[in-house]
Amino acid sequence: MATSYLLEVVTPERVVVKQEVEFTSVRSTEGSLGIMANHAPLVTTLDIGLLRFEKDGAADEMTLTGGFLEFAENKATILGNAAERPGDIDVSRAEAARQRAEKRIEEAKNGNAEIDLMRAELALKRALLRLSAGGRK
Ligand code: ATP
Repeated sequence: MATSYLLEVVTPERVVVKQEVEFTSVRSTEGSLGIMANHAPLVTTLDIGLLRFEKDGAADEMTLTGGFLEFAENKATILGNAAERPGDIDVSRAEAARQRAEKRIEEAKNGNAEIDLMRAELALKRALLRLSAGGRK
């Protein structure tokens, strides 16, 4: 039986990862999900969170701001909205995004009906993920 499988992570901009892995973990909208070789077929939507993958004892991680994952016949395909390796994250940009989102959330809670609260909350979640991953690089 195979002990590794192909992981491919694609965003609208590029192929971010295409390599053999032994294990992948992601945050699906139903909770965290770990996938080893020979996993049963599945399709799921992804939440904003970290993607981790392992091969030969080495682990790698990326931020993933939602998308879809399909696993079938020992291949995992992730269609991500955006994905960044920690070293590629612009921390000051993420900090500015956090401050903007927090200001919008505050305004929405103070009754400004022109602010889309859910959109601001998602922007905050992306910014916090990038700050936490980018701050550790
Ligand atoms: P911003 O308001 O700063 O644009 P955002 O969360 O709205 O943040 P996204 O729409 O998720 O941005 O991403 C748009 C593109 O910019 C993607 O290619 C994503 O990888 C990239 N990106 C967003 N924020 C950062 C960051 N802090 N560092 C590096 N790349 C980023």
